[in-house]
Amino acid sequence: MNFLSLIEAKREGQPLAAEQIVEMVRLYGSGKLPDYQMAAFLMAVYFRGLSPAETKALTLAMRDSGDKLEFPADERPLVDKHSTGGVGDKVSLPLAPLLACLGFRVPMVSGRGLGITGGTLDKFDSIPGFKTSLPPGRIIEIVQEVGCVICGQTEHMVPADKAMYALRDVTGTVPSIPLIVASILSKKLAEGLQALILDVKCGAAAFMPGLEKARELASAMVTLGNSCGMNTRALITNMDAPLGRAAGNWLEVKESVLCLRPDKACAGGIEDLREIVIDCAAHLLVQTERTNSFVAAQSLATQCLNSGKPLAKWNQMLTAQGADLAAFEQKLNLDHAAPAIIEIKSPAAGYVSKCDSRLLGGVIRDIRGGRLNKESVINYDVGVDRLAKPGDAVRTGDVLARVHAAKEQATMVAKRVGDAFEISDTPKKPISTVFEVVEANQASRSRNSKPHRF
Ligand code: URA
Repeated sequence: MNFLSLIEAKREGQPLAAEQIVEMVRLYGSGKLPDYQMAAFLMAVYFRGLSPAETKALTLAMRDSGDKLEFPADERPLVDKHSTGGVGDKVSLPLAPLLACLGFRVPMVSGRGLGITGGTLDKFDSIPGFKTSLPPGRIIEIVQEVGCVICGQTEHMVPADKAMYALRDVTGTVPSIPLIVASILSKKLAEGLQALILDVKCGAAAFMPGLEKARELASAMVTLGNSCGMNTRALITNMDAPLGRAAGNWLEVKESVLCLRPDKACAGGIEDLREIVIDCAAHLLVQTERTNSFVAAQSLATQCLNSGKPLAKWNQMLTAQGADLAAFEQKLNLDHAAPAIIEIKSPAAGYVSKCDSRLLGGVIRDIRGGRLNKESVINYDVGVDRLAKPGDAVRTGDVLARVHAAKEQATMVAKRVGDAFEISDTPKKPISTVFEVVEANQASRSRNSKPHRF
């Protein structure tokens, strides 16, 4: 194969045949295609885009580059949820046990933090003893026994994505719609799912700050997922402010447990988190035809979340994945696991009109809650909590946020955290958490055959 001519063709915006794309992924996977040529190809795709047919060929070739999870036949549908990434985005944590209690099997293969956005695996690494790295046989065993597992990609699952993602990360080619679509869906298709719900974040800290691009990404994934036989829907949700009132690995685990606790389920402050968790579960109930009314599905999911059963299921999943439950409970009882906390106070009375997720995500990464480079070592206990959110009424001196960090870092970032907030005299009109739902028929209506570009 003359790969140079494929790079040149894509550079000129010409379409490639499916066989050419399959062969290219095969050669790259077997080390016969150098990184520099693949990097040039990725940059050509970044500028020229890929048509839906090319994106599908790339996705399937990536899916087929390694092992797939093969589950025994079972009446419980295999489902999953995937988010494009946000700050304080802990939806997967309460959602997986909720789905298991609703009678689904959930092989939730997740990722690590990227840029300023958090990653599910990093959050679980803050739990004493919990293992995110499991062999495929154990993943299947836990899903069959417990109903849900949350773990990393196994060594041989979708290796083409691993290699291409690492290359994109260092060549400025991450934010390309067809490359994001192929990367996410190749992994989800390798899980053998019947249904997938996507949470496409839109706003300050999201890959897609604007609604139009978020819609384009959601529609591309929904169309392709469905055309590959996986019932796929997407929510487009607000990522201007962090989700819930805490951001940072351990602090998010703590807030997820709050979301699962029946005595605290309706406690104020995390309604946005609960809304997305319940809506994701409700959509999956409809997508798998367990009920045909979305309202009835929402009520079923709410009842289940409030029953306390998902909390017991969460503990069962932690135990199956090696967590030390006694040490976990002990850690939960601590007010803060980081060495220091400082409070950021409101300089004025009024209503919070901004709690900037991008600024806060950057601060958390800088105090070692995320990675600045591949060698970065994370401090799982740092972050922010007790966040005041848009719409909250505050008096002068009320707490807008608490920073959890190493002593010297907490004071260093205090001003930046304060700058994330704006206080206005009048309350702003409330903004919804879920902006839109993208379903198969809508997605194909808005689809065109033009290449998707960023
Ligand atoms: N998440 C992924 O898995 N891949 C991307 O390309 C972007 C987000």
